[in-house]
Amino acid sequence: MLNIIPNLELQPLNTMAIPALARYGVKVHSLDELGAALSWRREKQLEDDVDIPLLVIGGGSNIILRGDFPGLLVQVDLQGKEEIKETAEHIWLKVGAGENWHSLVEYSLSFHYWGLENLALIPGCVGAAPIQNIGAYGVELKDVFAELTAVDIQSGVEVVFEREACEFGYRDSVFKQRLKDRYIITSVTLKLSKNPTQYIEYPALASALSDCENITPEAVFEAVCRVRRSKLPDPALTPNTGSFFKNPIVDSTTYQRLHNEYANMPAYVVDQQTVKLAAGWLIDKAGWRGKELEGIVVHKDQALVLTNPKRLPGSAVLAAAEQIASDVKAKFGVQLEMEPRVYGNA
Ligand code: FAD
Ligand code: NAP
Repeated sequence: MLNIIPNLELQPLNTMAIPALARYGVKVHSLDELGAALSWRREKQLEDDVDIPLLVIGGGSNIILRGDFPGLLVQVDLQGKEEIKETAEHIWLKVGAGENWHSLVEYSLSFHYWGLENLALIPGCVGAAPIQNIGAYGVELKDVFAELTAVDIQSGVEVVFEREACEFGYRDSVFKQRLKDRYIITSVTLKLSKNPTQYIEYPALASALSDCENITPEAVFEAVCRVRRSKLPDPALTPNTGSFFKNPIVDSTTYQRLHNEYANMPAYVVDQQTVKLAAGWLIDKAGWRGKELEGIVVHKDQALVLTNPKRLPGSAVLAAAEQIASDVKAKFGVQLEMEPRVYGNA
């Protein structure tokens, strides 16, 4: 039975704890309920002769609500994990979009299916993971991704997207670009390894494992959890959305110019033409680490994280972000791009 709630309070549904309302809200637990919610929206649009925008969420850990959302918010709570294929080396695990991401990492580890260890403790749900091709410590979703199913919002038909069709990029996919707001992801199938493999190139991870004699996937998982807990604010206690800006990818001329001035600036070669800079370092050097701006605080242990301890409206968060990005632009000539997506009335 579909339970459409008018004027749904969104503060508990976003990790930035931004106070806002959705004109209508519904949590769907099955494909039938999802279909019913989309039908309800279509009929309501015809009946009232108005457009009802749609916002799909999982854990609300990568969204910023600029103001109230004037349409229908659908919280996807499709559960289930199924092993759909197996070879001597791999297992294909199909997972409902509403499953908690970190619980899935723990689950796969308990069955000795490897590949997700570096992605431990990322908040949110499985269905959101392909949207920005979640990544941490050198591993991205695309490295373990097989395919996903998604419902076309217009037609209500469920379709399959294989890896190529998702056009995964750095914190990016086709679902943030060409097919933005066109599909609701219902399941994700991962291809996990039965043979332990580790990727521990990131200095913070390598250093957390420096005393470890036997580096197993479990040890990597524990190290990732330890480092993240020591550095990142827990959204349940201090509202935040993780990294607020993407790391900028600049051309080699821009990189050379900056390197000449800041010899110790961290930078990572992407390809022959481009270099990735650390946005957290740029924000820190622009003087923002640990600082507060009208109630929004730049996290002292990682300047890339903005926190909202006073649970202020999205306008305060966006104003602080704009000021920080503008200072970085003025000092380094580099434009920062926000990572979370913005919704709601201005
Ligand atoms: P939401 O915030 O609910 O949604 C995010 C976007 O996905 C929205 O545009 C929404 O419309 C869309 N969406 C959600 N579900 C669906 C669906 N089923 N179908 C279609 N569209 C959907 N991200 C990383 O990549 N790496 C990290 O290491 C990382 N660390 C974080 C640490 C902290 C403390 C926090 C707060 C965030 C971090 N994030 C990280 C960001 C965030 O956790 C991820 O992007 C996560 O995948 C978002 O999941 P969610 O369910 O909360 O998505
Ligand atoms: P970190 O280890 O202090 O590193 C700082 C930055 O340098 C990171 O942004 C990372 O880029 C980059 N980096 C470090 N070593 C690298 C290498 N060997 N090759 C390429 N790039 C390298 O970062 P952190 O803030 O503690 O975060 C650790 C990991 O968790 C990072 O991968 C980060 O992206 C991820 N994380 C993401 C979010 C989010 O909301 N998106 C929040 C928290 C943490 P990348 O960011 O490109 O990896």
